[in-house]
Amino acid sequence: LFIVFEGGDGAGKSTQVDMTRQWLENRGSRVATTREPGGTQIGEKLRSLVLEHGHGEIDSRTEALMYAAARAAHVQQFIKPKLESGTHVICDRFVDSSLAYQGMGRALGFDAVASINDFATSGLKPDVTIILDISAADGRARRIAATDGVEQADRLEAEPDEFHERIRNAFFELAAKDPQRYLVIDATGGIAQLQEQITTHLAGLL
Ligand code: C5P
Repeated sequence: LFIVFEGGDGAGKSTQVDMTRQWLENRGSRVATTREPGGTQIGEKLRSLVLEHGHGEIDSRTEALMYAAARAAHVQQFIKPKLESGTHVICDRFVDSSLAYQGMGRALGFDAVASINDFATSGLKPDVTIILDISAADGRARRIAATDGVEQADRLEAEPDEFHERIRNAFFELAAKDPQRYLVIDATGGIAQLQEQITTHLAGLL
């Protein structure tokens, strides 16, 4: 399976990615975990560039193309070969993050961002996308708690809650378009409770 986790900053995706890998491995599966932007050498360089320079220095179209370029490398060099060898791939963010952040957050529109990403991924779609839903305020509180009270400049901290609410609504909209492929869960539940909902859903797909 190609499993993608999506959600706002502070939703707890990386914790659930690790726990889900462990769960699949315990069932005897081969699993690779990865993240976007990143996942390859070139992708990690693009990640550093885009996160270091930030929105003040990189215009929205350039940003969208950088994420898409990192994703193209990721799909060709990592995700496709793993899936073809029978390994499950769990990815922290994928195309929907671009649709939400660049499409809605940066107001480029879903259609423009979808078209460059269709090219980048050559049409590869996740088998299941798990959205960890969190409100802007809860996400902010979690991010600050996770960094001992220091706000991190590279995680869109400067963006107002209104930006994060647009992202959240974009994820809802994407899930509503294709409900079969999505699992939307309330990320304010406890870690174990979230994992339980995720593994129950995945068990039904395996
Ligand atoms: O999920 P992670 O913390 O690794 O994401 C890094 C940052 O990149 C986050 O602030 C996220 O909001 C941002 N991002 C983005 N557009 C994407 C993917 C991530 O603005 N397509």
